[in-house]
Amino acid sequence: MVRVRFAPSPTGMLHVGSLRSGLYNYLFARHLGGTCILRIEDTDQTRYVEGAEQNIFEMFRWTGIEFDEGPHVGGPHGPYRQSERTDIYRVHAQMLLDRGTAYYAFDTAEELDRMRERQKAAGVAPKYDRTSMRNQFTLGEEETRRLIDSGTPWTIRLFVPLTGETRTSDLVRGESVFPNKTIDDQILLKSDGYPTYHLANIVDDHLMEITHVIRGEEWLPSLPKHVILYDAFGWEKPQFAHLPLLLGPTRKKLSKRDGDVSVAEYLQKGYLPEALVNFVALLGWNPTADREIFTVEEMIAMFELEKVNKAGAIFDLEKLNWMNGMYLRQMPIERLAGDVLPILARAGFGNVEMIYAEAVVDLIKERITTLNDIPTFADYMFGPIRCIDFAYAQKHWKAGTQEQVAEMAGRFARLNPAEWTVSMIEGVVRGYAEELGLSAGKLIHPLRLAITGRQVGAGMFETMVVLGQGTSITRLREFTGPAV
Ligand code: GLU
Repeated sequence: MVRVRFAPSPTGMLHVGSLRSGLYNYLFARHLGGTCILRIEDTDQTRYVEGAEQNIFEMFRWTGIEFDEGPHVGGPHGPYRQSERTDIYRVHAQMLLDRGTAYYAFDTAEELDRMRERQKAAGVAPKYDRTSMRNQFTLGEEETRRLIDSGTPWTIRLFVPLTGETRTSDLVRGESVFPNKTIDDQILLKSDGYPTYHLANIVDDHLMEITHVIRGEEWLPSLPKHVILYDAFGWEKPQFAHLPLLLGPTRKKLSKRDGDVSVAEYLQKGYLPEALVNFVALLGWNPTADREIFTVEEMIAMFELEKVNKAGAIFDLEKLNWMNGMYLRQMPIERLAGDVLPILARAGFGNVEMIYAEAVVDLIKERITTLNDIPTFADYMFGPIRCIDFAYAQKHWKAGTQEQVAEMAGRFARLNPAEWTVSMIEGVVRGYAEELGLSAGKLIHPLRLAITGRQVGAGMFETMVVLGQGTSITRLREFTGPAV
């Protein structure tokens, strides 16, 4: 039975890279009928950020990715928040002490600094020199206990075999070999009594019966330590899969400088969760060469770790925008309208009726990238025209235009409400253009200017239908002056 976990640390807003890790764990588990758990790794008190855990829950809820066990739903292996499991880690650190695979270290911060300086001066790689381990040979058990009982600060370190090598195996990266002498005696339990990531992570993966560890490539350097730690406990190892780095457009590790990196920012910008999930899924995994749009169900059916790439994946915002547009066009209009109402409210357009929002979204969905574009792209659909494209006006508002627009307003007013349709409006405009011996465009541009204030928009007649007969005529009259 496959069991995987997504194990974020609540150190900030959920990163798109973390969304990908969570998603791949989810797809992998669902593909194989396994279990996907959420575990909050919050033992590093110095990096804890208020609200970050809440953000993890909220962002996954938004994307629709569900975990089978976790702090929010419980499960047989809880608690799933590491800060609530500290006793478990202490017991396990003691187990390692008892097995002789870990030892107490009493070094002060100053001593460690001096050690690093010595190593720097000697030109050797920084690595714990095992002073405390050697001291304990001479200190003996009693003296060690006395130091601990008298309140001398201590840590517990992993004893890495002095010679030989450690082999790691990864489903994405293959096999690697590390000489043990290059691996540090990792601190497992800190002087504040909290475990380090390494201890808590391995203990929990073991106790929670994790079969596959799927996580970002930044954790690859820790893998040899983890392998040694599993051996130190005498435990069977899970399988590992390290996902390729996310790169910015310049092929450097994706960072804030490249734009938005938190999932919340994409939510705030009006991206659809389906599009973001689809986009993020393809950052390092390509199920087929011939298409890019996949539903979550399709991704579950196709997901295989063997198809995950080694090479870094470029976060291409253009592609996300394209995908969001594709999803916008396919989405049921009620869903889009429901999502756009709060966006409109934030932009100062409260009290928009659902049915009207649906009509507007349907009108302009082909022309926007995200729902957040709506209040700026089509503000004139929700309130008065607030700005005029003067260059456009100068180009199309000629001598005689005013009278022509006034005449059209009069003809529109003579249509009865049931006749306020695209074909009737178009008939009025084309008929009048013919009478004048002009091309219809000569009338449509001024019409567009008066109705929307700008050059770019949806179909003119369709826009007028959605806006309504009364409002359309009022706008034309605002442009032409008092009654015709
Ligand atoms: N807490 C680690 C993180 O924030 C987990 C890494 C892992 O999955 O082992 O990414």
